[in-house]
Formats: sequence, C-alpha cells, structure tokens
Amino acid sequence: MKNKIKKKHIIFPIITAVLSLTLMLLVNYNFNSLKNKNYVDFLSDLSSKKVSTVYFTNTPKIKVKLSDGKIYETDNPRIDNFKENLLKQGVQVLENSPSDISHLIFMTAFIISIVSIMGILIKSSSIRSKGMLSVDSLDTAAISDLPFTFNDVAGNEEAKESVQDIVDFLKNPEKYNSYGARMPKGVILYGEPGTGKTLLAKAVAGEANVPFYAMSGSDFIQVYVGVGASRIRQLFKKAKSHGKAVIFIDEIDAIGKKRDSGKTGGSDERDQTLNALLTEMSGFNEKDGIVVMAATNRLDMLDEALLRPGRFDRHIEVSLPDLSAREKILYLHLKNKPINEISINEWAQKTAYFSGAKLENLINEAAIIACKEESKYIENSHIDKAFSIVMAGYEKQNRDYIKEKDRKITAYHEIGHALVSLKALPEDKVSKVTIIPSTKGAGGYTLSIPEDNLYTNKNYLKKRIMVLLGGRAAEEIIFGSEYITTGAHNDLKHCTSIAFNMITQYGMGETLGLLNMEELINLNINKNSIVIECKKLVDKLYNDTKALLLNESCLLEAMTNELLEKETLHAEDIKKYRDKALNF
Ligand code: ADP
Ligand code: MG
Ligand code: ZN
Repeated sequence: MKNKIKKKHIIFPIITAVLSLTLMLLVNYNFNSLKNKNYVDFLSDLSSKKVSTVYFTNTPKIKVKLSDGKIYETDNPRIDNFKENLLKQGVQVLENSPSDISHLIFMTAFIISIVSIMGILIKSSSIRSKGMLSVDSLDTAAISDLPFTFNDVAGNEEAKESVQDIVDFLKNPEKYNSYGARMPKGVILYGEPGTGKTLLAKAVAGEANVPFYAMSGSDFIQVYVGVGASRIRQLFKKAKSHGKAVIFIDEIDAIGKKRDSGKTGGSDERDQTLNALLTEMSGFNEKDGIVVMAATNRLDMLDEALLRPGRFDRHIEVSLPDLSAREKILYLHLKNKPINEISINEWAQKTAYFSGAKLENLINEAAIIACKEESKYIENSHIDKAFSIVMAGYEKQNRDYIKEKDRKITAYHEIGHALVSLKALPEDKVSKVTIIPSTKGAGGYTLSIPEDNLYTNKNYLKKRIMVLLGGRAAEEIIFGSEYITTGAHNDLKHCTSIAFNMITQYGMGETLGLLNMEELINLNINKNSIVIECKKLVDKLYNDTKALLLNESCLLEAMTNELLEKETLHAEDIKKYRDKALNF
C-alpha cells in the first residue's frame, strides 16, 4: 500500500523531467539549425518591413524573426547605432535569443523534477534504512501525555507500593542524591501474562510525569547482526535527550534469556544486544533520572548478568488478582460503561484465576453483546454470555479453569505451612498466604524472617523442616494418605537438603557426629547409614508436624475457609490466627 503511493508520487516528476528534456533539446535543435541568410537579404527584408524582431545573442550572429513567424540567422554587422536604427524602423529588439526563454522554462522544469525525484528516493530509502537501524520508525515515540496513573491499576497493591519510591525518585532525583541514595537503575516486573505489567510501567511514567519509551525484546532480535545493539543505543540516546524518562522493555527474555552453555553459534546477535543494553545501563548515572523497567513472564529464565546489582536489581512480582483485586478490576473497567444491576462481587467470585487482561476482555465481550442486542445497559445476562464465550476459549488453553477440588487442596496445603509456622516458629512472620498461582508454582506462602541471625541453631532447623512438611501433612490429614499430591515436591527437596546438611556438615547428627562429610569423601564411608539417619529425622519431624496440625484442626479449618474465600490472606488476616495459635 505504502509502496504504491510512493510509486504514484515518483511517476509525475519523471514524466515532467522527460518532457522538459525533450522540449529543451527540440528548441535547441531548432535554433541551432537555423537557416543562414546573407546580410543583404536581411536588409531587403528590413526595408520591405517584414522583420518583426531582432535578437542579439552573445555569438557573432543575430537572429531575425519575420512577421510571418519565420526565423533565420545572419551576421551581426556590429555597426554603431545598429540597434537605434532598428528601433527607429519599428523593429522589436531583444537582448537574448528566442530560444533562451523557453530553454530557461524547460530547464527549470527539468531541474525541479530531477530534484523532486531525488528527494523522493532519498526519503524512501531513509525510511527503509531507519526501519533497520533506528528506533524512530518503531513504536518508541514517547507518550509524554500519559493518561495512566496508579488509579488505572486496580489491585496489585504490593507491586504499586514497590514502585512508589521509583516514582518519587523520578520526580525528585536530587533529593535522593542528597542522601547518597542509589536508586535501582533497572526494575524487572515479572508475572503471568495479562497481569498488568505494561500498565504498571506506564503508570509509573504517568505518575512521575516523565516520557515513556517502550520497546519489546523481540524488536531487537533482527535478521541483521548488530541492528539490535544499535537500536538499544538509539533508544537510550533518545530517552536521555529528554532528561528524565522511563524506558520499558517488554519481553526482556527475548534478549536476556540464560545462555545455554552447550550451544554457542546463532546467539551472537542476542549477546550483542544484551551487552549493548548492559553497557547503556552502566553508562548513565543516578542523577539522570532514567529508570529502565522490563517485563517478563519468567524471571528464572533470565541471564544472571541482567540481574546483578547496578542492573536489574529490583524484582517485583505482579501476581494474578485475588478476589478483592478482581472486584476492583471489574469495577474499574465497568466504571464508565452503562451498567444495570450487575453484581460485581459475584463476578469476581466466578472469575477465579482470571488475569486483569482476561477480566478486561470479559467486560469488553459483554459490552459488545449488549451493543449487538441494542440493549440500553450492560446487564448480568450479557456478562453471562460473555463468560461462556471467554471460558470456552480459555478452557482449551491449559489451566485457566482450576477445579474447585484443586483450590481446596492448595488451600489446605498452604495453610498447613502457615499454621505450623505460627505454632512452631512464632518469631517468624507469615506475611502472606495465597492460593493464586504464581510463576514460582501453584500456591504460595511467604514468610519473612524478621531478624537475620548470624547463627542458625539445631532447634530452628528442625522447626524449619516441620514448616516445610506442613503442606504435605495437612494434605494427608484432610484427604487421606492415598490422596497426597505432587504439590509438596519442592518442599521435600528443600527439607531433605536441610536434614542432609545437618548430619553431614553441621555436626548435628549421630552417624558422623562432629565429622564433616566433605573431608571424608575419599574414604569409603557408609552413605547408607547417613540416608537412614536423614530419613529417621525427617520421619520423626513429619509425625510431630501431623500431631501439631491435628491438635489445631479447628484453626486449620477456619484459616483454610477464609483462604478459600479470599484467595489471599495478608499479614492483617493472619495476625488474629497467630494470637489464637499462641494463646492455647
Ligand atoms: P501484561 O503486560 O502483564 O501482559 P498488560 O499491562 O498488557 O499486561 O495488561 C493488559 C490489559 O489488561 C490492560 O491494558 C488493562 O486493560 C487490563 N489489566 C491488566 N491488569 C490490570 C489491573 N491490575 N487493573 C486494571 N486493568 C488491568
Ligand atoms: Mg505486556
Ligand atoms: Zn508446599
């Protein structure tokens, strides 16, 4: 389409150029092949009043135009008063040859058309080369008039809080500098697709009122080697030229994926691009007020080089919305639409595991259906239909629709961890329990250890193992030993490693006593006995864990029910259970 328009544009000047060139040559030819007449003949023409115009040229000849239009040449007599004489006889006298004027016109037309042809060619070739080498033609135009603020991001409170200081920094980098504070140059937002990572980055720029430059990692991966790197440099140059800015690189994994040690060829381009990015990031300093934000679905896929301090050293999880977040997102997207008697809370409950993007999509489908039906309002029935459509699409895709049974298993498992932690390690704070899947795995349970003790004691390690076993223990208590799940896979790995280290490294076991396994590696020690001791330890702790949970079965039920209802329990929700667990 674009090409056709360009062709049309170029055809016109080409025609003009050819035409004017032909005419120019023709005129020239006509005048250069003029008949030569004797001066005597001219004089006789003059006396018989046939001459209308005489042209003086810068050659030794003059050109003569008769009243019947014929033109010929004759010698210039170069006598005094020749011109005056002619004028007296009523003959027009011109100082340039008749061809000069038309020559001039055609010449001008020719030059203009040549210039415009060249102009068009240069322009189109520069568009083409820009497409390859510069970011101008890409979607990097800064959106300075950003309409996005944190109000456009519903839920995701933790992520918003985590980027709040970046907004402050962008607004006022001098303040942070005066305290000698170093702001993160790079922030990685990670989480499932459609959870609002791009939206959050835009909102940071919008809140700070700085331009937003966005590119996708896949834009940098080109056929031509070196193009990606040069695009990175141009992107940063452009952003820096405007002072403060947010640079957003979506799908950072396209350039920053872990390098496989095996293969070397073929990834040259990606390495160059990645190196250019790292160089640019170390090239600007904190005072510049530039923050690079990147998004990925998989944090664990990224090259460590990207995650080192001074690079993307802040990692913010953007998780799927829980019940209350879904309610907020639905509310946000319905806010400016004509709605009638829609129970937002009910829809929030039905849309478990929907991402923000899917919720937005659901509302949009409903609006389309309402519009097709020419209904005055969007009503529950429209969302109902939209829901069937959306679910039909999603059910085919993997695990969007997680069965109620699975939610229940996850809830008991996670509360198992949390409750054991409350009872056995009351000093450790359980800050969050959720059944919303994250990129890290199915459920999620977070605990933050308040003080980082220099030494970890035996008792603490045993309790840690119990907390890790709490998930599996709860599953077994509630569903029976035949229905335990694979969900405990990572927990078991982790607690095996703690138990093994206790016995082989820290001198906390019986088989080796105070001996360190690493030092004995060349001796033929009986590893079997170590495995047996590990197993004995973990088995005992598992029984203790089950006993503990059975003792607190009321709390286990209550907490699980609240978790199933809210999908996420935060520190405030957990606090009341902590008090109960300890008062016993
Ligand atoms: P991601 O970059 O994580 O894939 P996007 O930021 O592109 O997700 O989100 C796509 C769309 O989904 C947004 O434009 C918005 O309409 C909607 N959306 C996602 N998360 C939220 C949220 N937390 N609040 C409001 N809308 C959201
Ligand atoms: Mg995105
Ligand atoms: Zn677990």
